[in-house]
Amino acid sequence: MSKYWSGLVRNIEPYVPGEQPKDKTYIKLNTNENPYPPSPKVLEAMKQAANENIRLYPTPTCDELRSCIAQYYGLTNKEQVFMGNGSDELLAFVFLAFFNPGSPILFPDITYSFYPVYASLFHIDYRPVPLDGNFSIPIKEFFKKNGGIIFPNPNAPTGKYITLGSIEDILKQNTNQVVVVDEAYIDFGGESAVKLINNYPNLLVVQTLSKSRSLAGLRVGFAMGHEDLIEGINRVKNSINSYTLDRVALAGAMASFADEEYFQNTRRKVIATREKTIFRLLEIGFTVIPSQANFIFISHPLTSAGDIYQQLREKGILVRYFNKPRIDNFLRVSIGSDEEMEYFLKALAEII
Ligand code: PMP
Repeated sequence: MSKYWSGLVRNIEPYVPGEQPKDKTYIKLNTNENPYPPSPKVLEAMKQAANENIRLYPTPTCDELRSCIAQYYGLTNKEQVFMGNGSDELLAFVFLAFFNPGSPILFPDITYSFYPVYASLFHIDYRPVPLDGNFSIPIKEFFKKNGGIIFPNPNAPTGKYITLGSIEDILKQNTNQVVVVDEAYIDFGGESAVKLINNYPNLLVVQTLSKSRSLAGLRVGFAMGHEDLIEGINRVKNSINSYTLDRVALAGAMASFADEEYFQNTRRKVIATREKTIFRLLEIGFTVIPSQANFIFISHPLTSAGDIYQQLREKGILVRYFNKPRIDNFLRVSIGSDEEMEYFLKALAEII
């Protein structure tokens, strides 16, 4: 530990992202990326944007893209949209904008492991709410006194989804604090809570272009909510960095929302492959948690998850293994192409 580190950095256990091996021969089912490329129109728009104008700063307020997203989701105006450099960056701003030290926030346990990291870094107290025996989010636990709420829907790494009715129940019980619904995986089967934002001024819906739009490498995330919430996040962002989205990212994101057909086709293909994979896994004795995401959470009664993880790795397949209590016999497997999943299933059959 360096004597130069500040107190903030000394006490933090940073988030560790999934492995990105340089060796391209691995089948990567470990970081929930999309197996399909982005729309050719997105790539073309990005090439066009990589021109001499790159010497100029991009628009700091991402106005055109925010208008485009507002229109896409049927919102009143662009002041209900905030753009971030990936939803991870945006979520960090959200923690700073809405949560306070001394007023514990709630999030599920198990969930996206970045939440406790942000909370620790910003000295925000938190109370993890254990999932129930079926790995479901216990809705009523979120009715208890709190300083704010955040959860992914579908949850990660379980893939389990809660209904808009349950989200409304949570919102009604928590009108004095912000409820953040992290919809990184919503396009793979769930219904977005964005339609609730006009009724609930304390609801913030966060989405990303990383998963369903095949743009993890571009770093574009966005939040939708009441103008007052968006202004709060802007206060944080404008106190840290003016230009969070570059010119190429802005052009690529715009083009993605313009190619609806490509988006729908890709998303449907991933869902179809997920359902086929689940069917086959059940046939060979796996427990599979029902998933509305582009990944599945699986366990085998006879072979330990750690062993399966290691042996898959030796066969050139990367999946995610969380060596944590309660889930140490589970693997999270991203949905790849049909061919990749076929290869994965064949490898599994040799292991178990
Ligand atoms: N939220 C959840 C639940 C996630 O799993 C991820 C991806 N790891 C993110 C947010 C962040 O995605 P990105 O920063 O690529 O938008």
